[in-house]
Amino acid sequence: MINTKHVIKYDPDKCVGCQQCYKACFVDVIRWDAEAKKPIFKYVEDCEHCFYCQFVCKKGAVTVKPNYASEHLMQSFEQYK
Ligand code: SF4
Ligand code: SF4
Repeated sequence: MINTKHVIKYDPDKCVGCQQCYKACFVDVIRWDAEAKKPIFKYVEDCEHCFYCQFVCKKGAVTVKPNYASEHLMQSFEQYK
């Protein structure tokens, strides 16, 4: 069973709508709301914990908090043993 309690914190008040997080995400976690000009963190369960979105956000609007106890994350580590 995949147990994702992974959290991505997003602060819309800090966001300036630059799309960098949306462009950085290589999976389908982040969608773009063209009308609001803001990202939508829609498929958090698919997050690969790469931190790219947090890294590229120069406004500090995104914080990735992986659930290190989740099987999903442990499976990612297993492949590098
Ligand atoms: S990178 Fe940061 S400022 Fe730019 S759209 Fe994403 S959350 Fe907003
Ligand atoms: S941490 Fe990586 S995979 Fe997860 S939402 Fe951010 S860019 Fe996408």
